[in-house]
Amino acid sequence: MKTYQQFINGKLTDSHSSEWIEVENPYTGETIARAPKGDDADAYAALEAAKKSQKAWAARTASDRAGYLTKMAAAIRAKRVELATLLAQEQAKIIGLAQVEIDFTADYFDYYAGWARKYEGEIINSDRYNENIFLFHKPIGVVVGICPWNFPFFVMARKVAPALLTGCTIVLKPSSNTPCTTFEFAKLVASLDLPAGVVNFVSGSGKTLGNTLVTSPLTDMVTLTGSVEAGQEIIAASAQNVTKVSLELGGKAPAIVFADADIDLAVKGVLDSRVIYSGQVCNCAERAYVQKSIYEKFLDKLTDAFKKVKYGDPFAPDTVYSSQIDKAQQTKIDEMVKRAVAAGAQVVTGGACTTDNGKGYFYEPTILTGARQDSEIVQKEVFGPVIPVLPFEDYDEAIALANDCEYGLTSSVFTTNINTVMQSLKDLNFGETYVNREHFEGMQGFHAGWRKSGIGGADGKHGLMEYLQSQVAYIQF
Ligand code: NAD
Repeated sequence: MKTYQQFINGKLTDSHSSEWIEVENPYTGETIARAPKGDDADAYAALEAAKKSQKAWAARTASDRAGYLTKMAAAIRAKRVELATLLAQEQAKIIGLAQVEIDFTADYFDYYAGWARKYEGEIINSDRYNENIFLFHKPIGVVVGICPWNFPFFVMARKVAPALLTGCTIVLKPSSNTPCTTFEFAKLVASLDLPAGVVNFVSGSGKTLGNTLVTSPLTDMVTLTGSVEAGQEIIAASAQNVTKVSLELGGKAPAIVFADADIDLAVKGVLDSRVIYSGQVCNCAERAYVQKSIYEKFLDKLTDAFKKVKYGDPFAPDTVYSSQIDKAQQTKIDEMVKRAVAAGAQVVTGGACTTDNGKGYFYEPTILTGARQDSEIVQKEVFGPVIPVLPFEDYDEAIALANDCEYGLTSSVFTTNINTVMQSLKDLNFGETYVNREHFEGMQGFHAGWRKSGIGGADGKHGLMEYLQSQVAYIQF
């Protein structure tokens, strides 16, 4: 069993606490590692290191800082198979997807390294002839990054890469379910010549160590990827020091299938978006709306496709998904489906907890019909391989049903009519819309939710700007 240490001020170091987080492989049930359940003293030590190093880090050129991101990408690639194997073990992610996550993360560091010579300030016209107005972009300072368990390695990079490139320093807390790959990355960072304190990793409970990180006066920005509930707690906690927050929260993405859609393509898009990583993805298609004239045909094909999904061992070559992250998550999904059925929905396929010959906390690929638009299963994030399918009459009804939700992260549209595509892009109120494809974002886009799905966002140029603040200089000559 692996035992991890905190990574503070450039050193792998014992926690001030003697408590531990046990990391379970959700598929085998084995305890594979333990990581520190850090306390306030760990949080303060990491924040002080980040604060102390930030000025000198920001004084380096962006291209110099980018050099470290390139080294991080290379270090990940050198360990790509070991990291993917560990990722598959710590969270029951199928090995193919785990490898994609590791490789994508290395590319992500390279991508942000490429921004070093590209982000710019502005020169603004003054009302005075003998004056120039300059707008500079400056690093925010010390960033606290708080991560979820579903894409632990990638989301870590999504915070570390733009923070470092812009001259910020960072203290990052992994989820207690999935600290392993983050601490393996810490070991890689420890072997680079990165100045001490620029990156710090501390594990511990969100409500204690996490809260201390958020409320500290040393913290200049908090970036959380997690649930709406954690986002709300962090907004409240950050009010104390009026600390900037960037929040990427949950989703309940609609997939709209119009009568003129390529039905097979729509079935594939909805299926791929719903069962990937056992449905535990924020941008997954979580509810499907299908035009009445093709409703039965679509439902039959989707049901066939769901019945064929093979789930099981994350290391088997033909499994599409594996166990849910833990027993609590499996129970939560099951209870939501049971409440949906009690409220009048019918199970077309699936609808039960299961195992792979006694292993794992699986939930069957599940389709529900007859759910009401205002019911919990249509309105709240399930985070499992479960989808309610609802019929609609016409365009206006489809858009109204899709927009009727407190989440606003992603959405999708399946149609062969370009006018329907363009009109729906005007009418859908979501941070992302996918047309005739599965839901999954690119690193050059901007992943940002509307409504309760978040504040601010990540990726691309706009994600970089989250870590910068402006200073305007009026220069009279
Ligand atoms: P979670 O909210 O339970 O935990 C996320 C992190 O926040 C953990 O590290 C946790 O310890 C920490 N935390 C919780 N309460 C805190 C507090 N009061 N102060 C400081 N830290 C606190 O989420 P999870 O179960 O790990 O992840 C699943 C959720 O994340 C889903 O809702 C999913 O949609 C969302 N998610 C969103 C995106 C996105 O890009 N929008 C991406 C991945 C996951």
